[in-house]
Amino acid sequence: MPPLTANLISDTVTKPTAGMLEAMMTAEVGDDVFEQDPTTRALEQKMAEMFGHEAALFCPSGTMANQIAIKAQTQPLDEILCDEIAHIYRYELGGYGFHSGVSIHVMRGERGIVTPEMVKAAIKPKADWNPVTRLLCLENSINMAGGNYYTFDEILALTETAHSSGLRTHLDGARLFNVLVETGDTPKAYGGQFDSISICLSKGLGAPVGSVLISDRETIAMARRIRKVMGGGMRQVGYLAAAGIYALDHHIHRLKEDHQRARKSAEKLKQLNWVSEVLPVKTNIVIFRVADHVTARQVESALNQQHILSVAIDPHHIRWVFHLDINDEMTALIENLGNDIF
Ligand SMILES: *Cc1c(COP(=O)(O)O)cnc(C)c1O
Repeated sequence: MPPLTANLISDTVTKPTAGMLEAMMTAEVGDDVFEQDPTTRALEQKMAEMFGHEAALFCPSGTMANQIAIKAQTQPLDEILCDEIAHIYRYELGGYGFHSGVSIHVMRGERGIVTPEMVKAAIKPKADWNPVTRLLCLENSINMAGGNYYTFDEILALTETAHSSGLRTHLDGARLFNVLVETGDTPKAYGGQFDSISICLSKGLGAPVGSVLISDRETIAMARRIRKVMGGGMRQVGYLAAAGIYALDHHIHRLKEDHQRARKSAEKLKQLNWVSEVLPVKTNIVIFRVADHVTARQVESALNQQHILSVAIDPHHIRWVFHLDINDEMTALIENLGNDIF
């Protein structure tokens, strides 16, 4: 038997549970390009209703859902706004330029959090030489800020600032449910503030593949065409939509367990001499700085040898992400870590 291993490289590594596989195997499917897949339609309707929006679109990935949202809500020579550590800016290959011909203005937030003042200062005056500032993109929770999140009041102030300046608003809600289980805010409250929202089913919610883009009927009709031109029209995709429906029905509330394990592990890390700082743990992500006498690469490989699979995100920091496939036995591997792992 392989040794007990805690795979903390991402919350995307989860495999379907027995219940989820059962739901997938018994799904009723059809050709979704011809809009004949009842399970995909059910997932899209469920998500739209949950967020109080008119429509939704199942997408192969969160990246595609974000990129479609940008393209559907901008024109070439427009500009989008986001924080400098946003996924849309850092990890989507500059797709906003490639797919949509728009430029980007990045704001310097505090641990990923931007303010209405930053948004106001970023909006360009009308001039032939300026791009038209069109879309504010926020991320919640914030991946590269260690799962930090905006409170709903902060969101409200930002979306009101954007809308009153004629901008549209997109939420990269890859891990929005991690925020909602912490704050008690509702999907509808978020739906009311954003013109579009992307949600990953394949992260902490535990589905193998898939993200959903939620918006108004007209935007989703355009989004459907954009998904097709990107090659993202899928056929009997109801097998995957069934996993998504199962995830929404069974895996939202339990996200709290991941947050508890993340917090507990952070407390342990603070006692170790090869750790110099642990970022505050707000949801399911732990980012820590390694002590000056080691590199993040060295710590990463030492942890991997202890069967705690970790990622060095830069020369000094390691990221751990907690998820559905991490149990108490695996968390005990962390509890048992000492100063002597090198
Ligand atoms: C994971 C993630 C995405 C999209 O990821 P895919 O791997 O393309 O599904 C988008 N935004 C954030 C904040 C993410 O963490």
